[in-house]
Amino acid sequence: MNTSFDLNRCPLIVIWETTQACDLACCHCRACAQAKRSPLELSTLEAEKLIHDVADLNPPIFILTGGDPLKRSDIFYLVRRAVAHGLHPAMTPSATPLLTREAIAELKKAHLSRMAVSLDGSAPALHDAFRGVDGSYARTLEAIHWANEFGLPIQVNTSISKRNIHDLENMANLLKQFKLVLWSAFFLVPTGRAQMADLLSADEVEQAFATLYRFSKTLPFKVKTTEAQHYRRYIIQQRMQGKAKGTIAISGHGWEKAVPGLLPINDGKGFVFVSHTGEVCPSGFLPVSAGNVRTESLTEIYRNSPLLMGLRNTSNLQGKCGACEFKEICGGSRARAYAVSGNMFAEDPCCNYIPKKLVREPQQLEADNNFSESGDLLIPSN
Ligand code: SF4
Ligand code: SF4
Repeated sequence: MNTSFDLNRCPLIVIWETTQACDLACCHCRACAQAKRSPLELSTLEAEKLIHDVADLNPPIFILTGGDPLKRSDIFYLVRRAVAHGLHPAMTPSATPLLTREAIAELKKAHLSRMAVSLDGSAPALHDAFRGVDGSYARTLEAIHWANEFGLPIQVNTSISKRNIHDLENMANLLKQFKLVLWSAFFLVPTGRAQMADLLSADEVEQAFATLYRFSKTLPFKVKTTEAQHYRRYIIQQRMQGKAKGTIAISGHGWEKAVPGLLPINDGKGFVFVSHTGEVCPSGFLPVSAGNVRTESLTEIYRNSPLLMGLRNTSNLQGKCGACEFKEICGGSRARAYAVSGNMFAEDPCCNYIPKKLVREPQQLEADNNFSESGDLLIPSN
């Protein structure tokens, strides 16, 4: 990936919540999905305008998510429209009776670039308990087989929490039997139906990083994380082990030398989420609106909204993240900071790293934390 990509002008990933309707009932659903579609969803016409907007931004990755995108009867048409606009749409359908062999064949025919399905456990009991519907595990494996059969690139997403952290090894053993392009580990953000009690401790997250890093060396597909920006800090630390101290400055843009290809993506910074009603948010896990595509263009909102500009400005970060030498490449999960503290600029509560500066100046951390109760005060005006 080209690290000169200007994240202030163009997101790397645009994700559109096509609907909040879904026939599963996942215990960690950020959307609190319901069976019925909302009458407030973007219409087909509005969705076409959004696709046009997204094409203007021309992000490398455009994801149609939900809810379950297959709950929209126009979804195959919209995939074709996105392709016609030069985009490379990917989709995250839910593993329900709507995800048939025929539906997957149709998506392949429409030139969907990738399909992602969720798998949260290596055995039916664990996965189905997550998803709230018996049979979801079997349907997910069936969908992976069908995608492989039709040559549709397939990704597996796994939400990692206290419920399944013990199962990562078994998951890896299961997944390596399939032809995947990517395994994406989502680290829980306690928003929507997700519970604080399921949130991993910072030490557990660090252990999960070690496991995923080991997998990334041996599994026959790529392994990435979502809402675990500090996995980049972990990778850099691993790559730097054994190098002469001081040869690479990590503050600033030193990571480009340490680990070429890493991009400092974060909520609202290289990543933007459009809700089913057109609200533009930094992430689906950070439900704060920067504007609505019904009244403004996505390009205008992404580039100029005070909320997104504020999130891209690392000098707004507080606590450990504000003091951290890794803040330019990491910055911590803004969504998790918001979900846990109500302050989107607070430190990520699931990182156990102590910035070098704070080893020397712990009293400064206390001063930083007392600086502002409300992150909103720190958003610069236009
Ligand atoms: S499959 Fe996705 S949208 Fe459906 S209930 Fe689960 S997390 Fe929510
Ligand atoms: S303290 Fe914050 S910026 Fe530093 S590594 Fe941890 S999450 Fe990232």
